[in-house]
Amino acid sequence: MSVILRIRNLKKYFPTSKKGVFVKAVDGIDFDIYKEDVFALVGESGSGKSTTAYTVIGMYEATEGKIEYKDLDISRIHWKRPIQLKKNIQIVFQDPGTSLNPSKTVSQIIGAPLIIHKHLRGEKLREAIINALNMVELPSEYIYKLPRDIGGGEKQLVAIARALSAGPEFVILDEPTSALDVSIQAKIIRTLLKLKEELGLTYMFITHDLSLVRNISNRVAIMYLGKIVEQGPTSQIFAEPSHPYTQMLLSSIPVVTKAEEAFKPKQVQSTGEIPSPVDVPPGCSFHTRCPLAWDTCRKIEPQPVELQPGRIVKCHLYSKHKATLSGAKL
Ligand code: SF4
Repeated sequence: MSVILRIRNLKKYFPTSKKGVFVKAVDGIDFDIYKEDVFALVGESGSGKSTTAYTVIGMYEATEGKIEYKDLDISRIHWKRPIQLKKNIQIVFQDPGTSLNPSKTVSQIIGAPLIIHKHLRGEKLREAIINALNMVELPSEYIYKLPRDIGGGEKQLVAIARALSAGPEFVILDEPTSALDVSIQAKIIRTLLKLKEELGLTYMFITHDLSLVRNISNRVAIMYLGKIVEQGPTSQIFAEPSHPYTQMLLSSIPVVTKAEEAFKPKQVQSTGEIPSPVDVPPGCSFHTRCPLAWDTCRKIEPQPVELQPGRIVKCHLYSKHKATLSGAKL
């Protein structure tokens, strides 16, 4: 499978009011997304997953590092990206209540990318708008409605129709269901997966919902304080999480049956709260919460270790040189 998106040492720092002090929202991450992947980027609030998405889409300029889209380096072009690139990479935001212009009709909202990217006008434009609505299973008469006339789930379906109407290849989904009622979430996910199959799309799915990740993604990366601590095939990571943070996250997923309980990793208790990204702890940034931390963890940042092809973890427990690093019992 070919790589659609290649990220290398990507950093996005934001200045603070204090001179020389930065919020290191994304701090040197690497990952590849292959054609037709559902790649999940997972983490708690403040982990840097949405900043990663906004830097990839070009809303933020990268501080450092490389973003390659199908071998084209797009790291230094953000707002002024070529029109074809804007067509090919689309995003669906978390809250359709704020991402849709309240003064535009559904027809105008879905029609805008069709005019810009496909140069449609008149009856052809109207047909394409109705096709886009039908694609997300909304009735044709919705073209006359304003966002305030429709429910939250329907607004998100309009946002999806807008993102897909011009025929993108790669779609970033930034927590697309987290602002919606539980009753509508399953329908949105079903629609997204159906369209992925029909249109051959590739998704980068930003979420904190691990149950969802297990059900929809084929590869996953776990973020903590701006860094990716573990990544690999979803099935492998859920069957055998390696990083203590991944183990902590997976052991806290609610389950309803004994069979599901048997598949959970043993409970890993973290201590303390997630530190501020302005004041990231030295060494392994998870050491303040990790029950397995020892001296080395507090001083030296762990480097990525490839456990299997495509399965990477950043933790001293897996370092090839762990004996020399620590001189301690592991
Ligand atoms: Fe825990 Fe040390 Fe691994 Fe960090 S490097 S996750 S502190 S064991």
